[in-house]
Amino acid sequence: MVPHSTLLSDLQLRMIEELESKSLFKQASDAAFTYIDNAHNKPAYPSLGDLNSLAELEQDLPDAATNGSNVIEQLARLGATNSVKYSGSYFGFVNGGALPVALAAKWLADIWDQNAALYVMSPIAAKLESQCEKWLKQLFALPKGTVAGLVGGTSVATLSGLAAARYRQLSKLGWDISEDGLSGAPKLRIIMGRQTHGTVAKMVTLLGFGRRSIEWVDCDAQGRMEVDKLPKLDQSCIVILQAGNVCSGAFDDFASICSSANSAGAWVHIDGAFGLWAAASAQFNKLTNGIELAQSWSVDGHKTLNTPYDCGVILCSDPQALTGALHQQGSYIQASDNRDGLDFTPDMSRRARSIELWASMKYLGRSGISALVEQLHHHAKYFAEQLHLQGFNVLNEVVFNQIIVACDSQQQTEEMLKAIQSSQQCWCGGATWQGKSIIRISVCSWETTKTDLDNALQTFIAARKASD
Ligand SMILES: *Cc1c(COP(=O)(O)O)cnc(C)c1O
Repeated sequence: MVPHSTLLSDLQLRMIEELESKSLFKQASDAAFTYIDNAHNKPAYPSLGDLNSLAELEQDLPDAATNGSNVIEQLARLGATNSVKYSGSYFGFVNGGALPVALAAKWLADIWDQNAALYVMSPIAAKLESQCEKWLKQLFALPKGTVAGLVGGTSVATLSGLAAARYRQLSKLGWDISEDGLSGAPKLRIIMGRQTHGTVAKMVTLLGFGRRSIEWVDCDAQGRMEVDKLPKLDQSCIVILQAGNVCSGAFDDFASICSSANSAGAWVHIDGAFGLWAAASAQFNKLTNGIELAQSWSVDGHKTLNTPYDCGVILCSDPQALTGALHQQGSYIQASDNRDGLDFTPDMSRRARSIELWASMKYLGRSGISALVEQLHHHAKYFAEQLHLQGFNVLNEVVFNQIIVACDSQQQTEEMLKAIQSSQQCWCGGATWQGKSIIRISVCSWETTKTDLDNALQTFIAARKASD
C-alpha cells in the first residue's frame, strides 16, 4: 500500500500555496518591473564584474528542495545585470526588441501554459495559429493555398521548407522519401548563393545532402546571387534564395530566378528571416517582388516584427509536401477537423507561439507593421549617412536595415569593434565581408530613436579615436 502521506507531500502542499498566494508571481513581476524601470540605465552589455558573478551558479544539483522565492531571488538578481537588452542601442546580429503588447500576451500565455501540438490540446492556440497563417499570407501576398507552421526560428523553418522540397522533388522523380528514405534515392541538386546564411547549409547537411553536393552560385558585391551564373535547372533542383543578406541586407532577384526555376520544375525556398517583412511595406515591397513565385519561405517574428524570442514561421504553398514531409503517426494522436499545429512543424509539443505572434499583428495592424518596417530602415539609412559624413567607410548599399562599416585599415576596424563592444554604450557585432573584417550594424528594434543613433555615432567616433 502507498502510504497516504506520500500522496499529498509537503512539496505539493507548498506548490499549492505558491500558486494560490501568487507570491512567486508577485515577486517575479516586481523584479520584472524594476528591470523595466532601470532599463535605460542598463549598460548595453554586462560588465566583466557582472559576468564574473555568474560563477555563483556553478553548484552541484542541490539535494534538497528549496523555497521558490529563493530561486526567483537568485535568478532576478543575476539576470538583471547579466541579461542583454536588445534595446534602442543594440545593433548586434539581427536581434529585434519585443513589443510591449507581445510581451504582455506572452506573459498571459505562460500562465495558460498551452501545448500547441493539437487542436484538442489547445483550441485557442490552434485558432490563433490559423489567424496568423491567414494574416501572414495576406501581408506577404503569398499564394492562396499557402500554409504556415510555427517554429522556434528561421533555422527550423528552413529545415521544414527544405524537407518539404526534398519530399516534393523526389516524388516528382518517382521516389517516396518518407517510405524509402535517402539511400538509393535519385540525386537532388542543392543550388544556393555563396552568401547564403550559415543556418541554410546546416539544415541542408542535416537533411542528408552533404556540403560537397551543394552547387554554389557566385554573388555580386552586395551578396546577391548572380542570375547569369545560375546553373541549368531541372526537376531535381532545390534553389535557396534570400530576402535580406545578414550583413548587407541585399535581396536576390526573385522574379527572374523563380520564373526560370518554375519552368524547369525546380523548387525555390526563400530565407526571409528579417527581410520578408519588406513585403508588408508599399515603400519596400519592390525588394520582395516575385517572392510569390517560390514554394516555401522562412521568416522570423522575433526579428523585424519584434515579437519576443522563439517565434519563427515556415510558409509553404504546397501543403501536401510540407505535411507529407513532417507527418507523424501514433494511435494516440487525436487528429481533428480543425487545425493541428504538429502537421506543419518538425516538433510535437510546443509552446503556443501563435499567442504573441497574433497579438503583435493585431496590435500593429497592416499600417503599423508597415510603419515599423519603414522606421527601422529609415533609422538605418540615417545612421549610415551620419557614419559616412564622419569619414567611416559604409561598404554596402543600405537597402534594408543592415549597414556594413569599416575603417581604412583592417586592424583599426578590429580594434574599433573591440572598443565599441566594451563601451557599454551600444553594441555591434563583427563579421568578414569579401575577405575583410567589418562591423555589422542591424537596426532591428522598435525602441531605437534618433537619439540612440546620435549617441551610437559618438561611441563610434570615440572608439575610432581610441584605436588610432
Ligand atoms: C537570423 C537569420 C537566420 C537564422 O534565424 P533564427 O531565427 O536565428 O533561427 C537565418 N537567415 C537569416 C538571413 C537570418 O537573418
